[in-house]
Amino acid sequence: MKSPVITIRNAAATAKINIHKLRGNVSVLEGSGGNITVLTGRDGKLLVDSGISRPQVEDALASLSKEPVRHLINSHWHFDHTDGNEWLHSVGAEISAHENTRKHLSVNTRVEDWNFTFSPAPVGALPAKLITTDQTRHLNGTTVVLKRYDPSHTDSDLSVEFQEANVIAVADTFWNGAYPFIDHSTGGSLGGLIRAAEANIANTNDETIVVPGHGPIGNKSQLIEFRDMLVAVRQKVADLKKHGKSLDETIAAKPTSDYDAKWGGFVIDGNFFTRLVYAGI
Ligand SMILES: [Zn+2]
Repeated sequence: MKSPVITIRNAAATAKINIHKLRGNVSVLEGSGGNITVLTGRDGKLLVDSGISRPQVEDALASLSKEPVRHLINSHWHFDHTDGNEWLHSVGAEISAHENTRKHLSVNTRVEDWNFTFSPAPVGALPAKLITTDQTRHLNGTTVVLKRYDPSHTDSDLSVEFQEANVIAVADTFWNGAYPFIDHSTGGSLGGLIRAAEANIANTNDETIVVPGHGPIGNKSQLIEFRDMLVAVRQKVADLKKHGKSLDETIAAKPTSDYDAKWGGFVIDGNFFTRLVYAGI
């Protein structure tokens, strides 16, 4: 199988970035790997995630405002959220992340379900500031709250909330309108992802703007739909597994068929998602 990592990196090289102004001084850049959330202001830009392709991200950032990027937070260690770390560090960004992000970026890390082994990242790409406990920062007239998730999509996931604007970036614990990847190689699990979805629902209200790791800007009701889909698919796959079905038999039974039209159109199709869920039950 050709690794999706190569497909995604190639696509990002020519992708166009769409800029969405959300609320207050918070915007999102969509199109270079995972969504990139940007807080602008006189203290310098703060980014959540660094995307993949430098030229497009650099142009998009310049079009938002003149200030340099001073702060970069990695929502987790995956390449489509951290490939841009090195160049952003080289132009002055201090990188913050969960300690497991630094750990996985520092060594050869194999992701079995992507059929890919990542080499250690260059020193400049490594987070220098480790988020070992929840913390609050005051920047650009905004209260920025960083929270650690228990292991869910990976063992390195963080949310970043911009309180006055009521915007929250929830890393890859939420894929809006797409089946999520679950990285069993670095601590991810379906149960953990469902618990993260519950935490996201509890942490938002009807006015909250929710920035998913992938997919369009969302809201609380879409977080609920996502959680409900995860719970329903887990139940269907668990029933098949309990009745002794092998992985191939489970995939052939199409447990995701009710959901594929809505959720199966991105990187992870129904069969791939069934395989991920089966492995985690
Ligand atoms: Zn990810």
